Amino acid sequence: MQIHRRQFLKYCVGSATALGLPMTVLGNLEQALAAGGAVLPKVIWLNGANCTGCTVSLANLFSNSGPTDIADLLFNTIDLVFHPNLMGAAGDLAVQQVKDTAQGSYILAVEGGIPTAFNGHTCMLWTDGGKDVTAMEAVQMLAPNAAAILSVGTCASYGGMPAADPNPTGIVSVSELTGLNTVNIPGCPTHPDWIVWTIAHLLSGVMPQLDDRNRPTDLYGTEIHKVCPRKDQGEAKMFGVEHKCLKELGCKGPKTKSDCPSRKWNNGTNWCIGAGAICVGCTESGFPDKFSPFYKVEYGYQDFQKPNDSQPPIQPPIQPTPQRKYQPHLLLLLGGS
Ligand code: SF4
Ligand code: SF4
Repeated sequence: MQIHRRQFLKYCVGSATALGLPMTVLGNLEQALAAGGAVLPKVIWLNGANCTGCTVSLANLFSNSGPTDIADLLFNTIDLVFHPNLMGAAGDLAVQQVKDTAQGSYILAVEGGIPTAFNGHTCMLWTDGGKDVTAMEAVQMLAPNAAAILSVGTCASYGGMPAADPNPTGIVSVSELTGLNTVNIPGCPTHPDWIVWTIAHLLSGVMPQLDDRNRPTDLYGTEIHKVCPRKDQGEAKMFGVEHKCLKELGCKGPKTKSDCPSRKWNNGTNWCIGAGAICVGCTESGFPDKFSPFYKVEYGYQDFQKPNDSQPPIQPPIQPTPQRKYQPHLLLLLGGS
């Protein structure tokens, strides 16, 4: 399915309430797209040390009525010129696209933390003229001239999972590496709406208001705990209990800001706490180390019924252990004869 700039606008208008897009952003976007969109910046998306979960999250279906193919949306609407997982180009051609784009106006989106140990050589992005280019070098090269820098996901924003103790590859966030301000869209993974919302703002020339951790306050303005439907419903002592608060079991909702309770995930289907799991604080700096252990295990084991000791458990019949036969080629590999 081809998604064109007009359809992107239509999607943003149709989903403005769900996305939380203000009318100023929509108006600016409409003007830019009416002018052919020629003035819109291109986007270079780099992948540092990460699981690619944020790309997978973004590629998730985000609308039943609007665009459904995020790859088309990205390439045909915002001119995504480089994305290692979604682009068709490869090799020298892809590298040349980055170099050409770097001469003009572009938004730099980075997914993943940036390894700095071993001179960054644990994360290589491409080769240029026979020389390996590390994620560290690529970000340092492209960040200073970018119109805006998006740190997509918690790894790029704050280090995240790859920076967890003992952090052997010396992962840092994009802003730590470059010393530049980034627009952080944390989450492990980040929500596809949060990416579209932020990109729509930047394309329209509106810089979203950011909090002290450089997250858009419209998306990350409230602690989950304050609006959680399980609040003040009594404490759950074990998992599987509907409606009751999961704080005793380790929920980090009181320390975590995001709009997960109202936005939900998988196209509004459900969210962590709605599904009976705790919030592990994935949108916060210091995740995961400062939020570990995720679960508290000292809950009501006594609630489980032990098997009746008076009746010995039925044992499965003992099977004779089959005689192992070694194949001649294995013996050869092992140096046998
Ligand atoms: S489940 Fe978590 S977020 Fe919800 S009320 Fe309890 S502690 Fe707060
Ligand atoms: S509820 Fe908590 S752990 Fe789950 S996605 Fe939202 S911020 Fe992350």
